[in-house]
Amino acid sequence: MSFPAPSTPPSSNPARTAAEAAARARAAAPALAALPLPTRASLLRGLSGALGENSAHLAAVAEDETRLGLERLHGEIRRTQAQLEMFADVVEDGAFLDVMIDPPDAAAKPAPRPDIRRMLVPLGPVAVFSASNFPFAFSVLGGDTASALAAGCPVVVKAHEGHPRLSDLTRELVARTVPEDVLSVVHGREEGRSLVTDPAIRAVGFTGSTAVGRALFDLAGSRPDPIPFYGELGSLNPVVVTPAACAARGADIAREYVASVTLGQGQFCTKPGLLFLPARHGLDDTLRREIAAIAPAPLLGRWIAAAYWETLGSLARHQAVSPLHLPGTPTDPRNSAPALLTTSAKDIRAFPEELLRECFGPASLVVTYDSHEDLLETLDVLPGSLTTTVHGQEGAEDGLVRRLTGAGNTGRLIWNGWPTGVAVTPAMHHGGPWPATTAPLHTSVGSRAVARWMRPVAFQNVPDALLPEPLRSTNPWTVPQHMDGAAISG
Ligand code: NAP
Repeated sequence: MSFPAPSTPPSSNPARTAAEAAARARAAAPALAALPLPTRASLLRGLSGALGENSAHLAAVAEDETRLGLERLHGEIRRTQAQLEMFADVVEDGAFLDVMIDPPDAAAKPAPRPDIRRMLVPLGPVAVFSASNFPFAFSVLGGDTASALAAGCPVVVKAHEGHPRLSDLTRELVARTVPEDVLSVVHGREEGRSLVTDPAIRAVGFTGSTAVGRALFDLAGSRPDPIPFYGELGSLNPVVVTPAACAARGADIAREYVASVTLGQGQFCTKPGLLFLPARHGLDDTLRREIAAIAPAPLLGRWIAAAYWETLGSLARHQAVSPLHLPGTPTDPRNSAPALLTTSAKDIRAFPEELLRECFGPASLVVTYDSHEDLLETLDVLPGSLTTTVHGQEGAEDGLVRRLTGAGNTGRLIWNGWPTGVAVTPAMHHGGPWPATTAPLHTSVGSRAVARWMRPVAFQNVPDALLPEPLRSTNPWTVPQHMDGAAISG
């Protein structure tokens, strides 16, 4: 079977309503789901190739709209290609279908056992809300789209209005690789809301603010037929420095922390928002010097800058907070200016609502603790995070380090490193408990991201010829199968 030919001329990118796009996606879903895995993988590799061939043009348009810098944007294009290629590998491997076969057993007690064969099947059309801060890696051809196509689901992307031209251009440049029924782009908040409630849409991927993510999650849940909503929202990403690590390499940690906070002007969901240091750490001057050396720079848009200054202002005005370095509002209202504030662990426990707020941009809160108990008690009140980082010394403070490196309330635990920069590898987990995400069982990065767009179906006593190819005893697609729980082929 060949891939369905584009139903619109390749150069066209007609404006569609959400309802039209969703209806076309529903019509295209069965053919996409039925594509042999090598064809599906070629589609993903074709998208990666199209990105690479057009990278100069795409990066220039992205720079014009986001001002993220060409070097960063080219790096993000390469990362987006790597994601597409990783999901092509996942598809070719076939293990993502999770095929399990339990053969019949007429002698089983207390009752004969039927033939049961289970696999994952695509959910159907998916809506993806692009992120403002990743115009490639979490946008039209980003990880949500790549994993949904890998699963066999058509995608309707709600473009982010921080980069609308880039969104259309990206769609246009892949018109020869993927038909518009399988991947389309719509614009506007109302169209976005319509997608979430459209009966043809079977799941939603979202990257953005906690407030909007929560509202759209509730909208998805209020449908007569509620659908999964995978929101990647806000995260404080605490960094904990043990007394031994602070004594051994405090100045290095302070320098690296400021670099991580200010990377990309702090516009990463993994930016460290809290740094726990032992009281009397002696690093205030280093922290001030390092942060003051970072020049103000444009944020992604005025709306991000306005939210940055509003959140920073309300944190800085709080009675329990003192400035370490607090610059004045810049003359260009789109600019950030890096800032560091400080408070105590005890005050975090006293004012969790006011102090545990994500400040999206290059600002962070240094939190001092008096004792191991003071630290551990405070970590217990933190909301779920995408990441938690521990800086410790192996062989020292073993009891504390063991407590800190437990799974905790986080999706990724980092030892002696920094959370910014999410490696694109199969084992990566980019998720976490609320409010980091709306779905703590899942990830938006790594090979398991594909599982968000699939559901299990068990086939009971269905004749081999009527089964989907991956479940047949002849295994015509040569996918990994498990028989009675053990791997039998692949
Ligand atoms: P956002 O305001 O949550 O917007 C995300 C998406 O939701 C956009 O497509 C936006 O549409 C849409 N939207 C906004 N308000 C809506 C509404 N009332 N009804 C329906 N749809 C709505 O996120 P953002 O614009 O990227 O940035 C704002 C804040 O989000 C930042 O300050 C930061 O706190 C947070 N953020 C978090 C992450 C993360 O990775 N966790 C990433 C980026 C931003 P339009 O494009 O049309 O506005």
